[in-house]
Amino acid sequence: MSRTTVATIHLGALRHNLARIKAMAAPAKVMAVVKADAYGHGLERVARALAQEADAFAVAALGDGLRLRAAGHRQRIVVLSGPDQPGDIAEMQRLGLDAAIHHEEQLRWLAEATPARGLLRVWLKVDSGMHRLGFAPERTADIHARLATMPGIDREIGLLTHFAESEVFDGTETLAQMACFNDATRQLQGPRSLSNSAAVLGWPDARADWVRSGGLLYGLSVVADKTGADFGFRPAMTLSTRLIAINHIKRGERIGYNGTWTCPQDMPIGVAAVGYGDGYPRSAVAGTPVLIGDRQVPLVGRVSMDLITLDLREAPLAKVGDRVVLWGPQLPVEEIAAQAGTISYDLTCGMTRRVLFVEDEH
Ligand SMILES: *Cc1c(COP(=O)(O)O)cnc(C)c1O
Repeated sequence: MSRTTVATIHLGALRHNLARIKAMAAPAKVMAVVKADAYGHGLERVARALAQEADAFAVAALGDGLRLRAAGHRQRIVVLSGPDQPGDIAEMQRLGLDAAIHHEEQLRWLAEATPARGLLRVWLKVDSGMHRLGFAPERTADIHARLATMPGIDREIGLLTHFAESEVFDGTETLAQMACFNDATRQLQGPRSLSNSAAVLGWPDARADWVRSGGLLYGLSVVADKTGADFGFRPAMTLSTRLIAINHIKRGERIGYNGTWTCPQDMPIGVAAVGYGDGYPRSAVAGTPVLIGDRQVPLVGRVSMDLITLDLREAPLAKVGDRVVLWGPQLPVEEIAAQAGTISYDLTCGMTRRVLFVEDEH
């Protein structure tokens, strides 16, 4: 019996999800966002699964672009935060990576860069209201003109912005950001990209030339009370472990660290070999469901580093060695995230090194 926590990555689900995003976004092209080790699913694994169909990949930083090139991918790769230091520019040129340019400092590095072989492709990032990365909208035309005269830069300059709350389908913020971006870029040539996953679902007018989708690739939704499956996407990760003990505990006894949960009757308590040391959220509250066979049973007591404790009253046939599913197609990670006060992305990104990754074709 293995005590290892296993993350099974469903390659068929990844392919299905990308095909669905492409169909929804058409005629826009799709950047498959594989930052943060492909939202915890494994960068090289996901890129391999999507290599045929992804129009481009998007990563947060240069190092991930290097890994994708090392794995042999020839697609466009957009580095969403661009160069972090002057030396990154030559490296991006060498690797043929697209650079998002969002800050004055990067313009200075570009102007001072010694022209290398090959043109650097850039995306000018406009801050249309999120106030994280990007140039103020009124500066867009000026920055574009400066980029256009720099040697070593591809003449086709992309235009990019990012939404702060596109998952709020009845809100006004996304409309305001779209209007801001459209005003700022109206006179400019070049491919445009506004949408993240939630915008692909809720804001068809924002599809433009390229959408940048991460969450939906993995079947994950950040829309309140909706799972990826509710929109026709398939979860790409199942996290599972084993039941390693069943103990019969007396009424009134308290379970786990600090005894936060008290047995209301004499009852069986299961112990499963997973904890926050694997990336299962310590903030998951009592009542958070796990699956044993086809039975959902609630977590009780604190999540500890290596173990969780379960109320087995509704699973009388459970036995030591049974597989326990923490999330997956039958138990949406969005539901677990809600119980832990976070979003699904946070959970899949949080898998630690002791989790064993396996793949299936399904
Ligand atoms: C992470 C990220 C995305 C993808 O967001 P999803 O919600 O996962 O689709 C798109 N664009 C930028 C700039 C990002 O940082």
